[in-house]
Amino acid sequence: MSTAPHVVVVGGGLAGMAAGLACADGGARVTLLEKRAHLGGLTWSFSHDGLTMDNGQHVFLRCCTAYRGFLDRVGSAGDVELQERLEVTVLRRGRRATLRRDRLPAPLHLGRSLLTYGLVPLAERARLGVAAAALARVDLDDPALDSETFEHWLRRHHQGPSAIAHLWDLICLATVNLPASEASLAMGAKVFQTGLLTDSAAGDIGWSRLPLGRLHGERGRAALEQAGASVRTGEGVQQVAPLGPVDGPPTAGSPRYVVRTGRGEVEADAVVVALPHYCVEEVLPPGALQADPARLGSSPILNVHVHFDRKVTDLPLAAGDGLAQWVFDRTASSGAERGQYLVVSVSGADEHIGRRPEDLGRDALSALRAMFPASAGAGVLSTFVTREHHATFRAAPGSAKMRAPARSPLRGLALAGAWTATGWPPTMEGAVRSGVAAARAALAATRTAGPGLGPELSVSAGPLRFQEVE
Ligand SMILES: Cc1cc2nc3c(=O)[nH]c(=O)nc-3n(C[C@H](O)[C@H](O)[C@H](O)COP(=O)(O)OP(=O)(O)OC[C@H]3O[C@@H](n4cnc5c(N)ncnc54)[C@H](O)[C@@H]3O)c2cc1C
Repeated sequence: MSTAPHVVVVGGGLAGMAAGLACADGGARVTLLEKRAHLGGLTWSFSHDGLTMDNGQHVFLRCCTAYRGFLDRVGSAGDVELQERLEVTVLRRGRRATLRRDRLPAPLHLGRSLLTYGLVPLAERARLGVAAAALARVDLDDPALDSETFEHWLRRHHQGPSAIAHLWDLICLATVNLPASEASLAMGAKVFQTGLLTDSAAGDIGWSRLPLGRLHGERGRAALEQAGASVRTGEGVQQVAPLGPVDGPPTAGSPRYVVRTGRGEVEADAVVVALPHYCVEEVLPPGALQADPARLGSSPILNVHVHFDRKVTDLPLAAGDGLAQWVFDRTASSGAERGQYLVVSVSGADEHIGRRPEDLGRDALSALRAMFPASAGAGVLSTFVTREHHATFRAAPGSAKMRAPARSPLRGLALAGAWTATGWPPTMEGAVRSGVAAARAALAATRTAGPGLGPELSVSAGPLRFQEVE
């Protein structure tokens, strides 16, 4: 029998997989329990009309170092595209504008692009730099940032409606999954400081060349199993319960928790619960949560998948008008044998999520036709809509208080998930960071002064290249 501590991870999204890998790399025995048939959580893929589709387009930035470390750990780092230099084409109102960084240090790297950014009138453009400089100086640790919307702050800093719509919201919606009018200043400031205003390369955009199910779920499972973890899919957890007092130091050889699933019970020295914010409370024992994640609420994302019978654009990604907030060319990853397969991605999609697929398809198509003149004569082979009602939590003012830290008040029980208190918006980066933070908390709680619980554990000794988050 191994004397290594046993950590049970509940939930196999990015947070749970990162936690499982970090625990296994740190020397623990790991069992990961996932309700669905596959790992990957909110990043998953399926087949439809001969194409492999993702439930929704996912992108990351160069500054997403923990997520990129995860890709590296599971052997997927070579299967993503990462721009050498940030470049985004914005096709709106019959105009073409480009956001491109040049070789100057941040924040000057975007200066030239912003000066010529034709979607914002000259008078408003002249005020962009002042707001950017003020945003770069905001103290991200100041709790007051979470009591104001990002748009309120932008208006206080003399940003006009065009600048908000065509620049600030272009990025805020895609990263926070809420418009600036609803997003917390804390989240807006985090995104712009970390992604655009501090390091000139930080905002380069990356995306997968593979279906997400393979990039994350399949590779993640293989890496976990290779690290010795037992991965049990199709096994939902109903309850995590302590087996005795969990406020004192650990006792060698006595498991502290039992995890109840539909198939039986699993005992654990420590548990990482990496479930979504809206249902995590259902499985936790009393006292495990000081925060109130259910009150965070959810922000939806929908994607309209359009398969043209021919190529209509050379751009790998672009931002557009109306429904087409962002458009991505997914032809290669889908395995399409002809034509071009584009995905229209709609974040903060409250007003669209309940609409009929035929109406969404029609609006997406008219937005694409306005963006890409070459699509005028193109036939449409298929359209399809994917909706995620609980894509992310709502990162609105007041949300910081509802996000729980990785270490729960109960010894040996840690929390993970993009919704936990990572300081990041609800992203893949936040999910991976949360998983590593929870693994650290769980492993620390399994250490004992006495003999019998295996080697001294240290996640940093493993091959993960995650940044410190605590
Ligand atoms: C359409 C869409 C587009 C997005 N775009 C981006 C993007 O471009 N960039 C970005 O960084 N982020 C993006 N996100 C957000 C990102 O996907 C999430 O923040 C991240 O994947 C969350 O990971 P997680 O592990 O915290 O949660 P989840 O992925 O929700 O994982 C939780 C897991 O727990 C499982 N589970 C639930 N209940 C139980 C139970 N009782 N027992 C066992 N298992 C259970 C679930 O099945 C799931 O696998 C997007 C999200 C969506 C939906």
